[in-house]
Amino acid sequence: MTLSTLAGAPVLVVGAGIMGSGIAQVAAQAGHPVFLHDARAGAATDAKAKLQSSLAALVAKGRMDPALAEQALARIEPVSELAAASGARLVVEAIVENLEAKRALFAELERVLGEDAVLATNTSSISVTAIANGLKRPQRLVGMHFFNPVPLMKLVEVVSGLQTDCGVAEAIFALAKAWGKVPVHARSTPGFIVNRIARPYYAETLALLLEQAATPQVLDACLRAAGFRMGPCELMDLIGHDTNYAVTNSVYEANFYDKRFVPSLVQREMVAGGLLGRKSGQGFYAYPAGMPALPVAVHEAPATAREVVVHGSGPVADWLEQAATTALAPQGWGPARIQDSGWTGLAIDGARLVLTDGRPARVVAQALGVADVAVFDRPLVLPVAPGTALAYSVAPQAHSTWASQAAAWLAALGLAPLPLADAPGLIVARTVAMLVNEAADAVLQGVCSPEGADAAMKLGVNYPAGPFEWLAGWSVAGVVGVLEALDAEYRGERYRVSPWLRRAQGASAAHLPPSPNNVRSSA
Ligand code: NAD
Repeated sequence: MTLSTLAGAPVLVVGAGIMGSGIAQVAAQAGHPVFLHDARAGAATDAKAKLQSSLAALVAKGRMDPALAEQALARIEPVSELAAASGARLVVEAIVENLEAKRALFAELERVLGEDAVLATNTSSISVTAIANGLKRPQRLVGMHFFNPVPLMKLVEVVSGLQTDCGVAEAIFALAKAWGKVPVHARSTPGFIVNRIARPYYAETLALLLEQAATPQVLDACLRAAGFRMGPCELMDLIGHDTNYAVTNSVYEANFYDKRFVPSLVQREMVAGGLLGRKSGQGFYAYPAGMPALPVAVHEAPATAREVVVHGSGPVADWLEQAATTALAPQGWGPARIQDSGWTGLAIDGARLVLTDGRPARVVAQALGVADVAVFDRPLVLPVAPGTALAYSVAPQAHSTWASQAAAWLAALGLAPLPLADAPGLIVARTVAMLVNEAADAVLQGVCSPEGADAAMKLGVNYPAGPFEWLAGWSVAGVVGVLEALDAEYRGERYRVSPWLRRAQGASAAHLPPSPNNVRSSA
C-alpha cells in the first residue's frame, strides 16, 4: 500500500467530539472528501457548525484564505448512518475510549467499507493489537494518534499492533506527512511514546512534594527556567488531576503494576478531594489567578574569599569559570582551575559548591570530607541567562553561615538560587535523568527510535529538547550516576537504570581512558 492509494481518498471520521472534529478539519483542509459520523443524533451537524465559526474566526483574523475555508467546509458531510460512507477508503475512529465500543465499531465498519479500506484508531491508551482482535482483517488496523488541539499539534504517533501490516503503517505515516503533520512510528505498548516517556515529568515533582522538599511554585520555577514551557504543577492543573491521574494509573496497570510507574499519593488525595486544577478552580494553585509569582529574594554578598578554584571539565565547568571570573573581577582577581577533578563546581576556601551528580549534599560532604557543602542543580541551557532560577541544597552538617553563603555565591554567579531539601538529584537533574531513562527503555523495547522519541516529546508535549538530545549534551555516565544516586536513597524499582543506558555506558567507557574520575564526573 502506498500514499497514492490514500491521496485525496474519501475519509470517514467516526466520533465528532474534540478530536474527531479536529481530524475532520485537517483532512478536509488537505483536500479529502470527509464523512463525519457520531452515534449521538445531531452531533456531527453541530460539530460542522462549530467548525464553520472557528474557520470564520480564522478568516476574520486574516489567518486563513476565505475561499480555502469555504472549500474545506464544503468537503465535510455529516452522515447519520455509517452505510452512507461506504465509499470511504480510510476511517479514523475518535469515539469514546472504551475497548468494547471500539471493537464493535470496527467490526461494523468491516461490513460497511471495502476490503481495502484502512482502519485507523485515535485511541490514546488502548492496545491497538487488542482493538484488532476479532476483526476479519486485523492487518488493516493501525493507530493514528493525534494530539489536542488537532489542527495545531504537529505530532502523530503511527502505532502498529502485532498484526498491523507494515504497508498500512507506512501509508498512514505518509498521509500524516501530507496533512502537514510530523508522524513518528510507535509500537503498541502502554502509553505509546509521549504518554509513557512523559510520566516522570509529573512523577518526580510529585515525589518531591510528598517528601516536602519544596513548594509547587519552586519546582515549577526551576523546570520553567530549564526551558519547559510549563512547570509540572501548573501543567497538571491545566490537564486536570483526574485525567492526569487516570493516565498514570492506566500506564501503571498496563505494565503489570511495575513500581517504576506507581502513581502518587499526593495526586490521589487531590483527586479524591475534587481539587482537579483549573477546571474546578483549585489545584496546586487557585484559579483564575493561577501560579503566584515567587517573592524576590535578596541575598547577602559573598564573604571575601582567599581562593576560588573551578573544578572539572566540560561545558558546565567552563560556564562556571566564566561566571566566577565575572563575579571576582571587581576584586581584581580570578579563579584558578583544576580540569582533572572528580567533581564539578567551586572550591571557595574550605567550602564546596558542587554540581549535582545525583548524590545529596549530605553524601557529597561525607565523600569530600568537608562539612560546608552545597550542591546545585544541573543548568540545562548554557550559557546560563542572568537571573535563571536554579535549585540548590545545603549539607545538614554544614555550619549555619554556609547556607546563606552558598546562596550568596550562586547569586553572585548570576543565578536566582532556590533552596530545596537535601533530596538526591534536586529537581532538573533528577527529572531529566528519569525522562532519558524512560526514553531509553522505550527504545530498548522497540517502541520508537531515539529520533522518534526526540520528535515526539518536542512536538507532542512541547519539551525544549528531546531526551536523547539531553543525553548527548550530558553523558551516559552522568545520567546513570543520578539514577544510581536516586536508587541508593529510595531503593525500589522506580529508579532502576535502563539496560539500554547500561549498554551505552559500556560502549562509551570502551573509548575512555581508564581514569577513576570518569565514573562520577557528570559535567
Ligand atoms: P469526546 O468525548 O469529545 O468525543 C467522543 C465522541 O464520540 C462523542 O461525540 C460521542 O458521542 C461519540 N461516540 C461515542 N461512542 C460512539 C460510537 N460507538 N459511535 C460513534 N460515535 C460515538 O472525546 P475525544 O476527546 O474527542 O476523544 C476521542 C478519542 O480520542 C478517544 O479515544 C480519546 O482517548 C482519544 N484522544 C483524546 C485526546 C484528547 O486530548 N481529548 C487526545 C488524543 C486522543
